[in-house]
Amino acid sequence: MTDDRGFSTRAIHAGQAFDPRTGAVIPPIFMTSTFVQDGVGGFRDGYEYSRGGNPSRDALQEQLASLEGGTHGYAFGSGLAAEDAVLRAILKPGDHVLMGNDVYGGTHRLVSKVWERWGVSITTADASDLDAVRAGMRPETRILWVETPSNPLMKIADVAGLAQIGHDAGAVVVADNTFATPALQQPLALGADLVLHSTTKYIGGHSDLVGGAVVTSDAELAEQIGFVQFAVGAVNSPFDAWLTTRSLKTLSVRMDRHSDNAQAVAESLVGHPALTAVHYPGLEGHPGRELAARQMRRFGGMVSMQLAGGAPAALELVRHTRLFQLAESLGGVESLVCYPSEMTHASVKGTELAVPDDLLRLSVGLEDADDLVADLREALDRL
Ligand SMILES: *Cc1c(COP(=O)(O)O)cnc(C)c1O
Repeated sequence: MTDDRGFSTRAIHAGQAFDPRTGAVIPPIFMTSTFVQDGVGGFRDGYEYSRGGNPSRDALQEQLASLEGGTHGYAFGSGLAAEDAVLRAILKPGDHVLMGNDVYGGTHRLVSKVWERWGVSITTADASDLDAVRAGMRPETRILWVETPSNPLMKIADVAGLAQIGHDAGAVVVADNTFATPALQQPLALGADLVLHSTTKYIGGHSDLVGGAVVTSDAELAEQIGFVQFAVGAVNSPFDAWLTTRSLKTLSVRMDRHSDNAQAVAESLVGHPALTAVHYPGLEGHPGRELAARQMRRFGGMVSMQLAGGAPAALELVRHTRLFQLAESLGGVESLVCYPSEMTHASVKGTELAVPDDLLRLSVGLEDADDLVADLREALDRL
């Protein structure tokens, strides 16, 4: 069933009908592992056991599918659990995965450290260069995996162009939409087969849960992923599903403010003598700006910057910001700063995916933009 109501209307209402018994506007959290049967096999509304299905998870899955413009959504206990379910649903020994060369470090690690032992091979290509991706495809490539904007260099990949290349080669095209979220970018409409999320980040949005999700409109892939979700069981809890549902209702307004604040922060950093580069797709001169403007509604809340004083300056700066707290993860209401080469991307150090050691990544939160700008400026001016 397609739902042609607006994004925010669907965010608030898809899968969120009031409780029929009490009229509670917010559906209850179904904290139960199992469901009473009316005689053997007499399931109420199809519910049997919460690994297979739980109303709180179903409500979230319906909401996620609606927001990504897909027909099927699946929620997991983490972004990596969602990724692993996708890999299990598609791959067999001998298959090859082609991945963008600046994807999330843990995504590369999952395939190169876990899946390679099962006969799966992985190579990478610059996903912002369609010719490089085309050249990287092999007859045995089963998955083309892209992330845009990329982490932490904020490169922009052409999802429609990549989907064409993947499909011409018979591969499944997976788009990690964690940075943009469906409020800003909808990869299924651009031709991707699967959209993946770490819901830990913007979708959860409050740094209080870990979760993942997959959405698709391909019935065959949906069946395989649904089976893996049930048979392997890396599901989220009903409480985490409910928290995620609550967060999705404000996603669109949060992403607008994250984008406003990130634009202000990025513009304020440009030209500072302590910096050699500022990476944000909303900046004039960013190589992916035009493409980002075409496939994204706004440019999002992530900014990265490189320091003239190299790694020592990066390590010094993070000791002096007050609002930008030093932590991994991103996408919460509070601003965070991270040193990717030793934190989020430590797992790819020394590989072709290594990130520059003079780079800091900012997750620009929902505080007042002036305060965020002042916080960074004070810390930068000390260098
Ligand atoms: C965090 C992240 C992941 C992994 O998700 P977890 O919830 O930490 O398992 C995958 N992709 C991107 C882009 C991420 O930022």
